[in-house]
Amino acid sequence: MNCLKCGRKLEDGQVFCPTCLENMNAYPVKPGTPIQLPPQQPAPPAKPKRKKQKERKPEEEIRRLRSSIRLLILILIVSLLAFSLVCILLLALLEQRELSVPL
Ligand SMILES: [Zn+2]
Repeated sequence: MNCLKCGRKLEDGQVFCPTCLENMNAYPVKPGTPIQLPPQQPAPPAKPKRKKQKERKPEEEIRRLRSSIRLLILILIVSLLAFSLVCILLLALLEQRELSVPL
């Protein structure tokens, strides 16, 4: 939180910084004087959402990683199968040529 008067950064629980407090003690305000507070930012309601997201995030990330790993393994298997198929076809073609060419 920042000082409500000068805007300096303060520790939690404080509203005015020591300098402003000294000035206020030196020049006290009459009771009943209207004070306009700066508009508060809606930060507190946003904090619980972040906590919930933090709690949910690891499980969701693990699920995503697992599904991506499965996909990668599937792609790897398919590509290996395709590669071995091409190798078999090439070997068959080479054997046919060797058979057709008389030595
Ligand atoms: Zn201040």
